[in-house]
Amino acid sequence: MLFPQHQLLIIPDLHTRLHSKRHIQIDTLILTKSYMLIIEIKNITGTLRFKKDPNQLVRIIDNIEEKSYACPLTQLDRNCDGIKTLFPSIELPIIQALVFPSQNTIIEDAPKNHHIFFAKQIPLFIQKLNTQPPILTNHQFNRIAKQLTKMNNNFTPDSLCNRMNINPEILKKGVLCKNCNSKLHRKSLQTWHCKTCLTTERNPIPSNIEDLFLLIKQDLSVKDCMHYLEINSRYTIYNSLKKMNVGKSGYKKTTKYNILH
Ligand SMILES: [Zn+2]
Repeated sequence: MLFPQHQLLIIPDLHTRLHSKRHIQIDTLILTKSYMLIIEIKNITGTLRFKKDPNQLVRIIDNIEEKSYACPLTQLDRNCDGIKTLFPSIELPIIQALVFPSQNTIIEDAPKNHHIFFAKQIPLFIQKLNTQPPILTNHQFNRIAKQLTKMNNNFTPDSLCNRMNINPEILKKGVLCKNCNSKLHRKSLQTWHCKTCLTTERNPIPSNIEDLFLLIKQDLSVKDCMHYLEINSRYTIYNSLKKMNVGKSGYKKTTKYNILH
C-alpha cells in the first residue's frame, strides 16, 4: 500500500493565485502528515540537457541543440516558494520532484540538488518518503487540506488579454456569431441573425459575456459589457447576467460581476 497513513490529499493540476501578478500551477500536489510533495511532469522525449546561466532545458538531436524550454526546476522552485508563502507557519518539508513519463527520455547534466526521475520510479520514491515521521496533527492536516482544496476551486484563470498583453480595445466589439465571429444583427427581442454565415441564434448575449470574462477581464461591470457588446440597454445586460452563474461585488453602478467556475 503506497499510502498507509489514512490522511492523504492528492490534488492534480492545482491552480491558485498568490496575488494579481503571480499564480501557482502545480501538476500534482500530495499532502500527507509528514511531507508535501510537489510533482512537475514534463512530457518531452529525446535527449534532454540541463543548462545553467540561464537555466534551461535543451533538447538535443544529433548533438545539436534543437529546442530549448524554460527550466522546469526553476518552476518547481517557484512553486515551492509560493506554497511556503501560503503556509508560513507550517514546518512541513516540501519536496519537489521532476518526473518524465517517457522511459525513452535521456537526461544529461541533471542537477544533483533536485529529484529527477521517470514515472515508474514514483512509487518507490513515495514509499521512502512515507518512512518519515508525521509532523502535522490531524487538525493541522485537515486545515491545510481544506485550504488547498478551497484555493484550487477559487482559481479563475487570468484573462487572455492580460496574459498576452493585448489592449482589449483592439478586439472586435458587438455581439458576435459563435460560428464565424461576425457581428450579429438583432431581429427581435431574443433572436439574432448572422449575415455572413446565415445562422440564427437565440439569446447569444450570455455566451458573449462569458467570452468577455475569458478575453478581457475577470470582473466586468454592466457598463463594460455594454461597451464591448455595443448594447445600449443596461437592462438587457443586467437581465442576462442575472441568468448566468456569476458572483458580484460592489454596490449599484460600481457592481462588478465575476464568473463562477
Ligand atoms: Zn456567422
